[in-house]
Formats: sequence, structure tokens, C-alpha cells
Amino acid sequence: MSNTKYVYSFGGGTADGRTDMKDLLGGKGANLAEMASLGIPVPAGYTITTEVCTYYYDNGLKYPASLDAEANEALTKVEEIMGAKFGDPGNPLLLSVRSGARMSMPGMMETILNAGLCSATIPGLIKKTGNPRFVYDAYRRLIMMYADVVMEKAAGVEPAEGHGIRQQLDHMLEKVKNRNGYASDADLTEADLKTLVDGFKTKIKEVLGEDFPDDPYEQLWGAVGAVFSSWNGKRAISYRRIEGLPDEWGTAVNVQAMVFGNMGDSSATGVAFTRNPATGENKFYGEWLVNAQGEDVVAGIRTPNPLNDDTKNDQNRHLDSLQQQMPEVYEQLFGIRNNLEQHFHDMQDIEFTIQEGHLWMLQTRTGKRTGTAALNMAMDMREEKLIDDRTSVMRVAPAQLDELLHPIVDPKAEAKADVLAKGLPAGPGGAIGKIVFTADDAARWAARGETVLLLREETNPEDVEGMRAAVGILTARGGMTSHAALVARGWGKCCIVGAGALQIDSLGRKLTVGGKVFNEGDVLTLNGTRGLVYDGELAMIDATENPRFAAFMEIADSIRVLKVRTNAETPSDAQTAIGFGAEGIGLFRTEHMFYGTGSEEPLFILRKMIMSDTVDGRRTALDELYPFVKKDIKATLEVMAGKPVTIRLLDPPLHEFVPVSDGERTKLAEALGMSMADLDRRAEELHELNPMMGHRGVRLGVSYPEISELQFRAILESAAELRADGVEVDPEIMVPVVGMKKELEAQLALAEKVHAEVCEKYGVKEIDYLYGTMIEIPRACLTADEIAETAQFFSFGTNDLTQMTFGFSRDDIGGFLPEYLDRKILAVDPFQVLDRDSVGRLVEMGIEKGRTTKPDLKVGICGEHGGEPNSVEFCHKAGMNYVSCSPFRVPIARLSAAQAQIQFPRD
Ligand code: ADP
Ligand code: MG
Ligand code: MG
Repeated sequence: MSNTKYVYSFGGGTADGRTDMKDLLGGKGANLAEMASLGIPVPAGYTITTEVCTYYYDNGLKYPASLDAEANEALTKVEEIMGAKFGDPGNPLLLSVRSGARMSMPGMMETILNAGLCSATIPGLIKKTGNPRFVYDAYRRLIMMYADVVMEKAAGVEPAEGHGIRQQLDHMLEKVKNRNGYASDADLTEADLKTLVDGFKTKIKEVLGEDFPDDPYEQLWGAVGAVFSSWNGKRAISYRRIEGLPDEWGTAVNVQAMVFGNMGDSSATGVAFTRNPATGENKFYGEWLVNAQGEDVVAGIRTPNPLNDDTKNDQNRHLDSLQQQMPEVYEQLFGIRNNLEQHFHDMQDIEFTIQEGHLWMLQTRTGKRTGTAALNMAMDMREEKLIDDRTSVMRVAPAQLDELLHPIVDPKAEAKADVLAKGLPAGPGGAIGKIVFTADDAARWAARGETVLLLREETNPEDVEGMRAAVGILTARGGMTSHAALVARGWGKCCIVGAGALQIDSLGRKLTVGGKVFNEGDVLTLNGTRGLVYDGELAMIDATENPRFAAFMEIADSIRVLKVRTNAETPSDAQTAIGFGAEGIGLFRTEHMFYGTGSEEPLFILRKMIMSDTVDGRRTALDELYPFVKKDIKATLEVMAGKPVTIRLLDPPLHEFVPVSDGERTKLAEALGMSMADLDRRAEELHELNPMMGHRGVRLGVSYPEISELQFRAILESAAELRADGVEVDPEIMVPVVGMKKELEAQLALAEKVHAEVCEKYGVKEIDYLYGTMIEIPRACLTADEIAETAQFFSFGTNDLTQMTFGFSRDDIGGFLPEYLDRKILAVDPFQVLDRDSVGRLVEMGIEKGRTTKPDLKVGICGEHGGEPNSVEFCHKAGMNYVSCSPFRVPIARLSAAQAQIQFPRD
């Protein structure tokens, strides 16, 4: 017998569990326990741990032997606290069976309400409540949920599209409503419900071939098993994939006494956020429905009422708030809101139910929020002294900054445009895209490179993949706590919900609004921050630097030790990066001047240089090229005055620059005075089978020292001239693709020679510069101690290092990487997230060996990884001095570096 405790009780002012036991009890269970201990009214219940889920899957879907006894004991406690008995004909207790993983997975897994209703207990409950309509309403809900979740999904039945048992039963319910002209479920009478319940049971038997169980314990354990099964349901798996959550975690199951929001007009249910999750405003924010059970609010079945004045908007202004209709209960709820924030020091997302004027809390968890809200809440709570600097820095995820820096619809363009439809602002920013009507279409269109907006009546958990693929989401129904809003907010995706004017015809792939018809593929613009929909494409602008953002970043900067530089090659990029807080340039690629606008002239000269087969020919071409090289270097050094600038020597695979068209070749041959035959032969010589591992980087400098000399001269002359003008410059010369110390030495000799010449030319004794190398070849890591004898700094080029470590050609991974990720051979793309186990070890070894030779060797990274949060954390831990990334990622790197220092402090 093991002594593992599998069941944790809560309720009646005490609990076995605590909020920090989320791994074991799941988020929901841990926080129900915490609330119970705080004396907050929570219906009593018990949590079956995630270990049982793991056990269940490891042991052929069997439970641990001791579970039954533990669960029965816990149930007895619940019965005592609630003063009713499960399955008792006279005084029956009903239970909810709720899933709850470590991290919330909105709507992904299953919940069964009202378990325990059966022919034996129905009369007792009617007698107890005096409310037969309520009892039959609860019963029909149980049947609907149970048939769907337990008898169909968990049993592995795969119905045809649109023919799930849930839809068939929904359809029967709709028929009754339509026949009687009812506006909502609340209009169904006792008689209607009784007939429906009988019809449901017959239908279930007919479709699924089994009877709906009439035994309370069979219902209870059926529901528990179904919750465990839902962990491995399709939706849950695909959600975990998107969110990067491990499959091994498992879910807990919460069994809890039912309380009823559907017992009449003094009963209600609602969902709220302790602060506004879209804007971050410190205002209690929520929605509620009178005479309803919990799932009604989230499902968007009726437009929910506003919680209070602060929550009123154009859609719900005409409806009574809870504050108006039940002021005392609202006050109590408001008190609990304050209590929870003081206790958890963070914004909470809560669920509550009011049974005949009596308030019960059903859930609290840290609320998902947009990037804007995250920033505002972090800064507000810090000012309120609810959290300290460090906590505030941890409150904004680096990925959310992306969203803060995201484009928005240009207000000027908006002022001139006509609003096509209005909805609720559920997810921030702007989005322009072609409209599609199903999640599958969204995924398919996006896969072929289209930018799409997903239009749905309302979304459900089956739509997540399409929601992910779309740049924006627009629904006709649902409130701020609907599924679409919840999911979009979590992802920081532009989203508008409840735009009631939209008539969406998913089957016909048509949208009708404002007397206009839109077809699949037509373009709309969404302003998710304001909830406005526009016809066609409006101009977008970058979100302007807001002062709060700047203040937040300053706090982060005061904490981090890792410096953040940028990869930039033009004065204007450098300027942008400084605006984002870059502290230097970590990678200036000399070859950039041969690409893009203004590149024609230097490119032609470069080609002459490459194609000439004599040193003299090359020197002539290089002399012509010199002013171009120097101009960009000097201008960039000037913009970065006072900050270090790492300039990498030319590193292009030469073949990329060999002209292919006959016209180009003829022009070149003329300019070089070569015959076409000679030129073609030279091109042939330059052809390489594997150019990425060919004649590039330092190898060029070894074969053609004059190319390196030109660059040393451009850098040193620029520095000398700028210094003479009183500009402080700090150039670092970086030699790429080095594998051997001797390569580096050979180039250093050239640099020193040029240095002497330039000093003489400008009449100065010395021009300060650092001489270092890019470490991007495994051999360089392995011999870093030797290389550090010559290099004054290392900069890890982790793009090439990843390529060489994995033996993956960066340009060809499209052919197999998706499958590797799908089949989980790789957890993530190693070109995006630095692979700590391989590339990371080489980097660590390189740093360690390098610093054995030179203890204060300056070390940085300049691959794409330098702006990726997980990789930045690695760089921090590995003891690097700086990371370098593209300008737009600089704020992300700054925040990641601060968070790394908070979690893993170093000097
Ligand atoms: P989810 O994780 O999808 O939010 P929940 O377990 O929170 O699922 O259940 C969904 C809804 O069911 C809740 O919002 C709540 O309103 C209702 N519910 C759950 N347990 C109870 C209960 N014990 N009494 C009344 N309603 C409940
Ligand atoms: Mg919930
Ligand atoms: Mg490289």
C-alpha cells in the first residue's frame, strides 16, 4: 500500500491544499483550497490530484487502489458541510465534476454539472426546493453535458461533422423554443423541460446505443473518468502544442457541491476580473446573467448584463447591472475582489454564483491580459505598493512587448472612414486581412501565405488553430469573457467580439452588414483596441512610444546586468535601435551595401573585384569600392558615438555575387577588358558545391589579403577622422568564420600594418580598436583558449553555429523541420530558440576556455537568438557581457535580461 495522498478536501473554512500546490492540485483546485482557507464562501468539495491522472495513463486507464476509499471519505465531509447526501432520495446533494490543469486551458477540457440527479433523487430535490422547473432544467443540462462529454467524447465516438450528440440535443431544444416563440432558454416551462428530458434519453439511446445512467455513483465516476480522458482529447492536445505545455503534466479533477444560479430571479451567475483585462484600468470588471448556470455566460448564449457602471458599453447599457439589481451581494463581491487582490497581489479572473441571494465563489485565478493591460497593471500595482520593482518587471511577458510595439490602425485614417460595425474590444491592436468563415479555412489560407481575419458567429475550443492562424478574430456574439475574447487576450491577438450587426453565413461563406454583402476573401480592417470594424484596408502606424512603457523599461534596465546591442548596418537602423534602447552595435555586416537600394554601383565594383583574376585588377576595383565601404562605416560610427560598434569583415559566399545574366556578364567583361570566355571560366572557378561551407569569411581574407586591408583601412580612417572631430568612437573589428588561431593571426598582422599606415597618415600615435572574432564554427569553441590568445573579444554567431552543430542547412530546413516539430523529435526550432544541450554547451565551453586565457574577455552573441527570451536567459546564465539583436527586438531582449537577473542573479 502506498501512503500517497490522492484526494484533498476543501470547504467550511478550511482546506488540505494551498495555492502553491498547483502542480499537484491543478490551478483550480489549489485556488479553491486557498479561497476556502481565507474564509471566502466556496462550496465544499475535494480535488483528485494530477498524480492520479498520470497513474491512470501509466496503468492502462486504472485508478490507484486507495482512491475509492479516499474519495468516499472526502465525499462524506462534503455531505456534512453542505447538509445533504449524495444520492439521497430525501435530501440529495448534487456535484460538479471539473477539470483543472496546472495552467488554465480555457474551455479545453470538460466540466459536468448536476451529477447525482436521477429518478431516485429528482422528487426529493423538487420537494426540497419547491421548484420543479429548476430541477428539470438542471437535469436536462446534466444529460446534455454527460452525453457529450462522457458517453460520446470520452468513449471515443467520432460523430460526423455537425452530428455530435450535443448538437442533436441542442437542435431538439431549439425546436421547442422556436415552436413556442421563446427568446431564451429561461422561457422553457417545467412541462417543456420534462418532455425534452424524455426525448433526450430516447435520442441518446438511439444515437449512442446506451442508456443515460440513472445511478448517481455511475454518473460521478463516469464524469471523473471523462475529465481524465479529456486531457488527451484532440483539442487539449492541440492547445498544449500551441502553448508549449508538456503532455506529462496531467489534469486534476475537482468534485464540488453544486450551487445554483438558476433557481429564479434572486439567483445568478457571473464572471469577473478584478481589473480591466483589456486596458489594465483599476476597475472591477465583469458580466453576469440572472437565473442561469455558469456555462451560459461564457458560451455567449445571451448578452450578459454588466457587473457595474464601469462595465457598461454600447451592447449592454440597457441591461441592469448587478450593482443595481442586488446591491448587497455586489458589495460582498466587491469586498472579496479587494481581499483576493491583496492576497494574490495580482489581477484575478473569478467565477461566482448567487443562489437565492447567497454568494458563492467558484474559481479564482491569475487573469489573462493584453500586453497593454499587463504594462498598466504592473505600473499601477507598483505605485499602489501592492508589488515591488522586481515583481512588476516579471509581470510583463517579453512576448507581450511585441504586442505593445505592434502596429495600430492610423487614427487619422480612422477619422475619415465609416464604421462598418461595432463590437467589444476584446484583443488589442489593429489587423487587416481577408475574411474567412471557418477555422479550417483560416489555417489553410494562412498556410499558403494569406493574411486572414477569422469571422465566426462565436468561437469554440475547436476553433483554436484557426484563431491562431488568423491575424484578427471577429465574432457576432459573445461578451468580454467569451471564449474568443479569453483566448485572443491570452495571445495578444487583435479581436472584436459581439458585433451584433454582423449576419454571418458560414456555410454560404458570406457576411451581410450595413446593407452590404462581403464574400470570402474580401478585406476588412479591425481596430481591436476600440472594437471597430471597417470596410477595406486602412492605413496602419506603429504604436507610439508611451511614457509608461519607457518608465517600465527603465525599471527593467536598472535590474539587468546583460547589455543589449543591436544588429544594424545603416545609420538609420542604428538610430531606430538607439530609440529602442540599444547600447551599441553587436553586428554590422559590411556586405549589406551590396543589397537593396543604392547597391547597384558598389555591387558592380564588387563584381569586378571578384571576377578579375589578377591582384592588380582586384586592387583597382578595391580602390573604387573604398569610398562606399568607408562612407557607411563612418556614418554608422558617428550615429553610435560613445557606444561600441562591432564591424564584421566581409562574409558573403562569393558565388552569390557572380552575375548570371548574359547582359551583366558582357558589361563586366567590357569593364574588365576580359574576353567573355575568360569571364565564364572565372565564374566556373568560383562555383562552389556547398558555398555556406566554402570560400567565405576569414578564408577570403587569407586568399585575398587586399580585401581585408581595405576594410581595416576604412574602419581605422573613419575612427581617426571622427576622433579628430571630437566624436567618441569605439570600433571593434570582428573576423568571421574563424576555426584556427592562425587564421586570426594572419589577419591581425594585416590590421597592424594598416594601423601603422593610418596612424602615419593622420599623424597620431594610436587609433584604439578591439580585434576579435565571431565564434561560429565548432572548432573555434573547442580551441577557444588558443583563439583567445589573439582575440580581444568573442561574439557567438549562433546561426552558423547551430547549422554546423546540427548539420542542418539553414536554407533547406523547410523540407523536414515541420515534421521534426510535429513528431516532437525536436521541441522547438533550434534556429529560433538556442539549443542549450548542444549549441549551448559549445558556447559555454567557448566562454570558459576563452576566459581561462583572458579572464576579462568580452563575450557577446549576435545570432537571431540574441532577441529570443529563452536564449537571452541562457546568455545571461552563461556569463556573456551582451546580446545583440534586430532593432525591434531590443526591448524584448532588455526585458528578458532583467527577468533573467531576477531569477538567476549574477554579478
Ligand atoms: P472551466 O475550467 O472551463 O472554466 P469550470 O470547472 O470552471 O470550467 O466550470 C464551468 C462552469 O461551471 C463554471 O464557470 C461555473 O459557473 C459552473 N460550475 C462549476 N462548478 C460549479 C458548482 N459547484 N456549482 C455551480 N456551478 C458550477
Ligand atoms: Mg472556470
Ligand atoms: Mg555566420
